[in-house]
Amino acid sequence: MTDTHTLTPDDTAGATQDEVVRAVCDALLPSLEPAADALGDPVLEAYYRDGAVARGIDTAVAAAVPTLDATLRRAIASLAEHLAASGFLDPAAAADPDARIAMLRAAGDASLTHRNAVRQLKSMAMGTFVNAVDETGTNPVWPALGYGPLAYRPATPGETPKNLRVETPDAAAEIVLTADVVVVGSGAGGGVIAARAAQAGLSVIVLDAGPHVTDAKRTQHGAEGGAVFLGRGGLFSETGQMGILAGSAVGGGTLINSMVSLRPPQKIRELWASEGLEGLDGPEFEAQLDRVWSRLGVNTEASHHNANTRAMITGLAELGYAHERLPRNFVADGVSEFCPFCAEGCTHQQGFRASTVVTYLDDAVASGARVFAGAWIDRVTVADGSATGVTGTIETADGQRPLRVDAPTVVVAAGGIESPALLLRSGIGGPAVGENLRLHPAWIVTGVYDEAIEAWHGQIQSAVSFDLTEVVDGEGFLVESLSLNIGSWAGLSPLAEGRVARDRMRSFDRYATWHGVAHDHGAGRVVLDEEGRAALIWDLDDDIDYRVGVRAHQELARMHKAAGAKEIFTFLWRDLRWRDGEDFEAFLDALAAEPPRDHLAMSAHQMGSCRLGADPTVSVADGRGQLHDTSGVWIGDASALPTAPGVNPMITVMAVAERTAEALVATVRKGG
Ligand SMILES: Cc1cc2nc3c(=O)[nH]c(=O)nc-3n(C[C@H](O)[C@H](O)[C@H](O)COP(=O)(O)OP(=O)(O)OC[C@H]3O[C@@H](n4cnc5c(N)ncnc54)[C@H](O)[C@@H]3O)c2cc1C
Repeated sequence: MTDTHTLTPDDTAGATQDEVVRAVCDALLPSLEPAADALGDPVLEAYYRDGAVARGIDTAVAAAVPTLDATLRRAIASLAEHLAASGFLDPAAAADPDARIAMLRAAGDASLTHRNAVRQLKSMAMGTFVNAVDETGTNPVWPALGYGPLAYRPATPGETPKNLRVETPDAAAEIVLTADVVVVGSGAGGGVIAARAAQAGLSVIVLDAGPHVTDAKRTQHGAEGGAVFLGRGGLFSETGQMGILAGSAVGGGTLINSMVSLRPPQKIRELWASEGLEGLDGPEFEAQLDRVWSRLGVNTEASHHNANTRAMITGLAELGYAHERLPRNFVADGVSEFCPFCAEGCTHQQGFRASTVVTYLDDAVASGARVFAGAWIDRVTVADGSATGVTGTIETADGQRPLRVDAPTVVVAAGGIESPALLLRSGIGGPAVGENLRLHPAWIVTGVYDEAIEAWHGQIQSAVSFDLTEVVDGEGFLVESLSLNIGSWAGLSPLAEGRVARDRMRSFDRYATWHGVAHDHGAGRVVLDEEGRAALIWDLDDDIDYRVGVRAHQELARMHKAAGAKEIFTFLWRDLRWRDGEDFEAFLDALAAEPPRDHLAMSAHQMGSCRLGADPTVSVADGRGQLHDTSGVWIGDASALPTAPGVNPMITVMAVAERTAEALVATVRKGG
C-alpha cells in the first residue's frame, strides 16, 4: 500500500493527465446502445447514447481538476501517471470501457490515494451528468431519472424578509476597514456572536468567504448548490475515507442544512463542564439554549414526513425501534407547508428556513453591523500577544483586492475545518490547534423500493430514532433519513460498468436513503497542505468507530428489508448488494467482514478542532472562548466544542456562541 500522510507537492498536471481524466469520464459514461425498453423513446435513447464525450463532460471535468485542493490534485496526478503507465490510453483499452472500469477498480483496490482520485473523478463526471443545467434551466437526463422539473418558484423574488444588506466594497488598492469586533465566518456560530456584539453597542464587521445567495435568488439546481459548499462539496480526507459537507456562503451551514434542531444531551453537557466550560451543565446554558430555540422558531408542528422518512419509520417500527418527530427551525406560518426540493435550497418567498441570514445576521445588521461576502481571511494579525485584526482578500466590484480589518477583537468562526487552518496560518492557538477533529461519521445505506419514493421531495429530515445510540461499548448512532442530491448519490455510489451505472440511475426515484450518524470515539485532525490550505487527516482506525460503522450498516439494512426494499446497497468501496430472494444473513455477514479501509463515511458536522477547555496543552481557548495564548481572539463556532455532542450540532454551536458572546462583550467592556 502506498498511502501516506505526507503532504508533498507534486503538480505534474499536463497533457497526459488531461487525456487520462477525459478517458476516465468516457469509461464512466460511455456512449451506449439504448436498453431494449428505451427504444422508440427519444429521451431514453439519448440518455444511453450521449455519454460524457457527447455532453462535453470529459472536457469540463479535465478543466475543473486544477481548481481542486492540493490533496486531490496530487491524488489525481498520481492516478493519471499510474493509469497511463498501465495502458489506460492504449487503443485496446479505449475500445473497451468495461476494461477501463476494471483498471480503475484495481487502482482503487491497491491504493487509497488512487481510490480517492477515482471517487473524485466519478463524483465530478456523474454529478455533472445528472446535475448540470442548460440555458433553459433543465437537464436532458432528468426525465430518464424521474427527476424534476424543479418545482417551486417564489412569486415575487426579493421580498422581505430576505433582504439582508451585504456590502461589496468599491475597488481600491487595498480595502482597509476598522471595527471593535471582526467576525470571520457568518454561519451558526459567527452569526450569533455578530448579533450579540452589535446589540451590545460594539461596531462589528462580519466577513464570509462564500457568496451571498438569498433564498429567493436560489434556483434549486444541484449544480448551483455546489457553489455554497466548502470545496464545492468535493472535500475528502487525505485517504478518501471521509467526505466533508459544509456550507460556505453568507449564513454558512445554516443556509443549506437539514434544520434538525436538537439540544445536546445532559451527559455531554456535564462532560464539557468538567473540562472547564463552567455552567454548561446548568441553568445558565439552559437559558442560552432557550434563546437560540426561540430566535430560530424551532418547532415540531411544521415537521412533515416525506416518503423517504415514512419508509424509515416503517423499518424502525418493524424492528421494534421507537422514533420521534424532529424539532426543526422551519417556520412555516400555518404549519401545513410542505415544499418540494427543500434539500436544494429554500426559495420560498417567506424564507421558511430560519438560517442566520434571516435571524441573527439580520439582527446584527439592524444593530449596525456590516456584512461582507467573498472575503477570504488568510491570517489573524497579532502584536504583543494581542489581536490587531485580520488580513485576506475580498471580492470588489472590480475583482479581488487585498483586505485588512483593524480590530482589537477577532472572532474565529470559519467552521470546524477552516478555523484551525486560519489559526495554523497565523501561528497562534498552541499545540492543540487542528487536533481533536470530531465529525459524526455518517454511514449511509440505500434501499430500492417498488414504489416511487422521490427522496428529494419534501422535508429533508423529520424523524429520528435514539434507540441505537449506545450499542457498541456505550457508543452508537442516530438513525435519520437523508435527502441525497442526485449528484451526490451518482458520484458516491459504488463504481460500476457504464451500462450497469446507467441502468441503476433509472431507479433513482425509487431509492430511499437513510444514515446512521455516529458519535465518534476517535478523532481526526486538520493540517495545512503545501499551499497553506486546510487538509484533513481521518482514517477509520478507531476500533469502536469501526464497529459502530458496521453495526449502523447492518441495522439500516435490516430496516430497509423490514420496510419492503427489494434491493439494498451501501456506499462502501466494494459493491455489496442484496437483492430480494438472496440470503440476507449472508449479506449482513458480508457487511461485517468489510475491512476498515474499505469503508466510506460522510460528515456534515465538523467540530472540536479548536476546542475550549481549561488545559492549554489539549485545548485552544479557555472555557469561555478566548485563546489561551492570544488575548482578543475568540473561538466562536463548531470547532469550539470539546467533543462531539452526538446529536446534530447546530443548536449546540449556537448556544455555546451565545455564551461566548456574553463573555466577549463583558471582556471588551472591562477593557481587555
Ligand atoms: C448538508 C448539511 C446538513 C446539515 N444538517 C444539519 C441539521 O439538520 N442540524 C444540525 O444541527 N446541523 C446540521 N448541519 C451542521 C451545521 O450546519 C453546522 O454544524 C453548523 O453550521 C456549523 O456552524 P459553524 O459556525 O461552525 O460553521 P458554518 O456554519 O459552516 O460557517 C462557517 C462559515 O465560515 C466561512 N469561512 C470559512 N473559511 C473562511 C475564511 N478563511 N475566511 C472567511 N470566511 C470563511 C464559510 O464560508 C462559512 O460560511 C448540517 C451541515 C450540512 C453541511
